Amino acid sequence: MVDKLIRSEDEWRKRLTPEQYRIVRERGTEMPFSGAYVHETASGIYACVACDLPLFESTAKYDSRSGWPSFWDVAAKDHIEIHEDHSLGMVRMEATCARCGAHLGHVFSDGPRPSGVRYCINSAALQLMSKMGQGGESSAKSESS
Ligand SMILES: [Zn+2]
Repeated sequence: MVDKLIRSEDEWRKRLTPEQYRIVRERGTEMPFSGAYVHETASGIYACVACDLPLFESTAKYDSRSGWPSFWDVAAKDHIEIHEDHSLGMVRMEATCARCGAHLGHVFSDGPRPSGVRYCINSAALQLMSKMGQGGESSAKSESS
């Protein structure tokens, strides 16, 4: 279980940029191919832009050609909540941050194997953080000699 983080809308407005606020607090959607992370390939953890909760690993990111960052798995099951969304005359599954309630995007069932799930997420709801203290192949430095 993740402890809830409750803040007033005024506080959120101060902490977020207008675009971030529109997406995560007003359940907005950024224009396709406009987000900072659509073509991002760096490795790390995509965390909630509002509360820093880790949401997705870069290893689960793939190019869905939808225009939004897409993931086929979550970093931790209890970090993301799924709700039915009946807006726009459709029934969709909305993904929100389990800690602060930030609107992230939607979940579809046309993802790649093995999950078959596509998490279609707004860049403005995410911040990419590099993995700290995790050695191994990903941290190999190429220092010329
Ligand atoms: Zn959050």
